[in-house]
Amino acid sequence: QRTHRFEVDHLKIFFEQEMGAREVDYGETMAGIVRQFAAELSEEETDTPFYMVNLSHFARQYLRWNHYLSRIRPFYAVKSNPNGFIIRVLNELGAGFDCASVEELDVVRDQCGSNFDCASNIIYAHPCKPVSQIHRFRNAGVQFTVVDNKDELKKISVYWPEAKVLLRLRPDDAHSLNPLSSKFGASEHDCIEMLRLGRKLNIDLIGCTFHVGSRCCDAQIYAESIRMARRIFDVACSNEFGYKFQLLDIGGGFMGHHSEEPTLPKVAALINNTLNSLFPENEGVRLMSEPGRYFSSSGMTLVCRIIGRRIVTQSRLNQEILSSPHSLSPYSGDDTDSDANSIEQDEDDAVGGVCDDQPLPALAPLPAFSWAQQTYVTTPKIMWMSDKKNIYYINDGIYGTFNAIIFDQKTFITHYLRMSSPTEDNEKDISGKNEKHFKSVIFGPTCDSLDCVAHAIDLPVLNNGDILWFPDVGSYTCSSASNFNGFKTTKYVLFWNK
Ligand code: PLP
Repeated sequence: QRTHRFEVDHLKIFFEQEMGAREVDYGETMAGIVRQFAAELSEEETDTPFYMVNLSHFARQYLRWNHYLSRIRPFYAVKSNPNGFIIRVLNELGAGFDCASVEELDVVRDQCGSNFDCASNIIYAHPCKPVSQIHRFRNAGVQFTVVDNKDELKKISVYWPEAKVLLRLRPDDAHSLNPLSSKFGASEHDCIEMLRLGRKLNIDLIGCTFHVGSRCCDAQIYAESIRMARRIFDVACSNEFGYKFQLLDIGGGFMGHHSEEPTLPKVAALINNTLNSLFPENEGVRLMSEPGRYFSSSGMTLVCRIIGRRIVTQSRLNQEILSSPHSLSPYSGDDTDSDANSIEQDEDDAVGGVCDDQPLPALAPLPAFSWAQQTYVTTPKIMWMSDKKNIYYINDGIYGTFNAIIFDQKTFITHYLRMSSPTEDNEKDISGKNEKHFKSVIFGPTCDSLDCVAHAIDLPVLNNGDILWFPDVGSYTCSSASNFNGFKTTKYVLFWNK
């Protein structure tokens, strides 16, 4: 383990001189900081979305980790956010890295410089490895990897015989928001089979790993998994097998936000108690972990602009209904109304057009995605249009940062910030003091109607150029974003605070 360099003076120089970040005073509100950064964009950039990155957040998370889980060295799971800035900060402080692909390996090596030692600082933590990638990890000097099945052991014996291998166990991850056990992990019985095969193939099995599922809501699963690992350690080190197990990796799954339960102090207390009784320090087993979102989640804020809008305030809608010659239907009158009518008609057509004895198309049902403040349950096209809501188009969307709504079941918290004065569209509520809020839809920038960030969120009437900003967007967002239709948020503004 390397010397950690936490002193503020050292970090100040590192953040400012080596990473080009500037200090920001958190006495300002976050909204104030967003406004300040947005105001500094050049004229050509004003409608460019960007991330505000607080480098000191990553350092603080590292300090908290060391405080609560001092026996366990974190290997940051690069998949959660592979940006160079987070890798550099965590490397500076002494973390290792969990890489699952050559691309992740390359970015870590690029960021960490020529003295970086892959052997002690990287684990190739993918249980199913393409042979070509095994070659690259091996040539880079990486030592540690994981397996969860006998075929993979055979592959290792041929292509990476000197690897130090961890058996990946399969915990019960039913209480995790993003479970992994349907894809990876071996039962205790399978582990024993692998111990047997490992002996025959002369593989250097050195310990166990597990992943309790990402965002694990039940801390007891860590304790249960550590108990399972202890059982496998005991069998492996018994006379029957004679291995010298010396490494336990407790994986990821820790929450990314301080307020999310179970909090780090709670999980850590349980993990420490279990480790102290089952893997006491004097036994000399080394402990590591692979936290991803724990480090990356809260360090980034996304700042978007409204680049287009279609406004239908409720009072106008009421007026339209009253003044409409066909007052039975609120959807008749102007052009938009007839659009809505025709789409509703399509919906009717679709229902009427289904022939009972026709086989149903073999499509999986849509998952119940958790949208900002709403749950997405039905075909979006029809729903958006048949409701009279204000519509805003922003410059990042479901194919970009908000892909996490689908792939990570993430809920985004929406804040707005006026960059212009309210216009005549704005109305006051009954008290006459506050702005009225209206049900609004937020669409992303692409030409696809599925590109919807929120379909019924309460917002006042906002203008083109106003800002919507979203905190805590660091994990599983930019790492899985595409540039579909040519849109992708690529601008990062780095800062730090004391
Ligand atoms: N390690 C492995 C093997 C993983 O598959 C993952 C996430 O999928 C992680 C670590 C990181 O998990 P988390 O972000 O929940 O900490």
